[in-house]
Amino acid sequence: MERTELNALGEFGLIDRIKSKFTTQNPETITGIGDDAAVIDLGDKYMLISTDMLLEGIHFDLSYAPLRHLGYKAVAVNVSDIAAMNGIAKQITVSIGLSNRISVEAVDEIYEGIRFACEDYKVDLIGGDTSASRSGLILSITATGLVDKDKIAYRNGAKVNDILCVTGDLGAAYFGLQILEREKQEYLANPNMQPDLEEKSYLVGKQLKPEARADIIHELAEAGVVPTSMIDISDGLASEIIHLSTQSGVGALIFEEKLPIEDITMLTASEFNISPITAALNGGEDYQLLFTVKQADFDKIKNVSDITPIGYMTEDKAVELVLKSGAKASIKAQGWNHLQ
Ligand code: ADP
Ligand code: MG
Repeated sequence: MERTELNALGEFGLIDRIKSKFTTQNPETITGIGDDAAVIDLGDKYMLISTDMLLEGIHFDLSYAPLRHLGYKAVAVNVSDIAAMNGIAKQITVSIGLSNRISVEAVDEIYEGIRFACEDYKVDLIGGDTSASRSGLILSITATGLVDKDKIAYRNGAKVNDILCVTGDLGAAYFGLQILEREKQEYLANPNMQPDLEEKSYLVGKQLKPEARADIIHELAEAGVVPTSMIDISDGLASEIIHLSTQSGVGALIFEEKLPIEDITMLTASEFNISPITAALNGGEDYQLLFTVKQADFDKIKNVSDITPIGYMTEDKAVELVLKSGAKASIKAQGWNHLQ
């Protein structure tokens, strides 16, 4: 029997392969595999369902990720996927795989974080599953949400000339991780050292305790704007723009000078000798929202401080970045071979 390595397909290739083997059988299943959340017809509204798994050693390192933050993050990343459909998260289930390194007090800490997130995002914990794990801590959360049928935002609705917008700032979570990794190596070399993360607390915080932009969903509703397409930035801006473009059948042009990058991110980028643009494009884990709006709608949100227009959608299918020099670079998805 033939054996194909997973790396030959990559994460998205593998998901496409799984998807191609299934058809939906229920008329209530509006959208299955392929967007940030599945869409189920409830009659008067759509229900959204998204699931995300965090694994020790792949997505987090218990030597520097506080358990409380981990619990919070596991909820936030799911709420973010619901927000990416323009929906409001309502319920979660939590499945947890526990290694023998985890004590009852440690489980309490994880659930403290989950509880904080439930309060912040107004979601209810309604169930889950508990098991022993032989390969470290596993935290898998499923979130449900609701959206009015005429307000749903898919990945595939972007049109030529729509304005491409991003929330918050980019690249910070990536440098937060670089700093934590560097401090860990220094600590292993010299266990007496006390890590000094004060100056970089913004970046480290973005990595350890990202927030889902549920607030933006309320801002959009208040402004009376429904994005023509939307996705959350979990893998990096580059990968997500390519998703919106290919699924919508249009291209995109973005401008380096428009990318929202904080000063501390810029400073840290030069310290690590990594281009801040590369970090913004390919760093990942920012959990900001990337969306398109009709030009006429842009005026209604242009004063929302945390929304930045970074470019627009084009007829030509290319996805390109206009550099400060005026030169154009083509945007490639990176990191997709990393299964996560
Ligand atoms: P996100 O980064 O927004 O969480 P993913 O890239 O993880 O999205 O997933 C993309 C789509 O593929 C989603 O619809 C998700 O539910 C689906 N998917 C991912 N893994 C699997 C799997 N093993 N089986 C079925 N569907 C999957
Ligand atoms: Mg997503």
